[in-house]
Amino acid sequence: STSIALYLKQRKQKRIEERFEPRPIELRSDEVVDGVTGLIGNTPLVRIKSLSDALGVEILGKAEYLNPGGSVKDRVALRMIEDAERQGLLYPNTGSRIFEGTVGSTGISIATIARARGYEATIIMPDDVAEEKVKALLALGAQVERVRPASIVDKKQFVNLARERAEHFGQDEVASGSAILPTSSSSVVVSTTAAEVVAPDHGILTVEDEQELRTKPRGFFADQSSQNKSNFDAHYEGTGPEIWRQTSGRVDAFVSGAGTGGTVAGTGKFLKNMNGDVIVALSDPEGSGLYNKIKFGVMFDQREAEGTKRRHQVDTVVEGIGINRLTHNMELGLDIISDAFRVLDEEAVAMSRYLVHHDGLFLGSSSACNLVACIKLVKKMGWHSGERVVTILCDSGNRHYSKFWNDDYLRDANIEINMGIIDDLLEAP
Ligand code: PMP
Repeated sequence: STSIALYLKQRKQKRIEERFEPRPIELRSDEVVDGVTGLIGNTPLVRIKSLSDALGVEILGKAEYLNPGGSVKDRVALRMIEDAERQGLLYPNTGSRIFEGTVGSTGISIATIARARGYEATIIMPDDVAEEKVKALLALGAQVERVRPASIVDKKQFVNLARERAEHFGQDEVASGSAILPTSSSSVVVSTTAAEVVAPDHGILTVEDEQELRTKPRGFFADQSSQNKSNFDAHYEGTGPEIWRQTSGRVDAFVSGAGTGGTVAGTGKFLKNMNGDVIVALSDPEGSGLYNKIKFGVMFDQREAEGTKRRHQVDTVVEGIGINRLTHNMELGLDIISDAFRVLDEEAVAMSRYLVHHDGLFLGSSSACNLVACIKLVKKMGWHSGERVVTILCDSGNRHYSKFWNDDYLRDANIEINMGIIDDLLEAP
């Protein structure tokens, strides 16, 4: 009988070993990439186990926080800079400076790529943005200017200031008819030499062209939020096709929040073009006017929204998404967004804690917001048999220590921290 006991013990041990046999770590790519920009994009799609198992629906998150600059915005910054180079608006190592007004992520992406490609960066942001974003920008060598939050119609508003600074930087060049032109309607400014200029890296430039480009430090206003279509294109030609490939085209819905709207518009439009049945839905935090726009065709009255605001732009602890005006990049995808879900601060906070607790995923506020909207969509559609919802995990929790991931801050802001909210959402009929 001792030999039987020994046999059973050994068999059990073998089963345990088999069950926990380590899987080899899968490489993201087996190629050597060339510099920091080679690390941008091609992010994995991660199945969120806790939510997928509870819903019986695959909830897949595009892990954009794995980009080298820490967010989905690396794609946009890279594309904007490449497009500007192609148009002759930027040339490396000339002392040219990129200006942007941003709540943070895009600034960090621009600062990262600027260093790698021989540019300076000036980032202008509201002074209530999480402190760690400022620290990251300074560490990356960017010039940072923080201003009081103001309405978009105010000249001192951070985006307007960025435009103005870029115009001033390029003043001499404006006089001679190239680089940044002082215009409020368009910032993808075409230089007079644009027609002859091709990408500095690959192009056929005459010696004179090259000489001219080299001798002119330019100010370039990146303008991701309104006019610069490079934002939309980065997603239409990058994020969208990647998701399509990674799912072999089996996607039932795409859910995303909107800050500039580039992600939801570009990615959504690509997926919708590939398959007209894909549902593209917006996740919208409290106080954002987009929900009303999608549901009822009208944004909040701008003044009304401002009158009720607690923080800049939108009344929420969620950073990076939610807006009260339509951007050009958002408009490019408005026709394909068919639904919208409001997400309360308490729900986004609960989701972030839930994901750490169950999945070990430490995510930022907009990612949490997106995942709450995924549940709401699944419940509304009555899905439970393996349908697939894809969303964006925009950045990591490590960008949010001072506010969204600061329990004291949340308590002061009267925002409850209660993971049970997610259980209730998952259990709802
Ligand atoms: N999440 C975070 C953290 C962001 O910074 C942004 C950009 N403001 C977004 C989401 C939204 O992306 P988009 O600008 O493409 O709408």
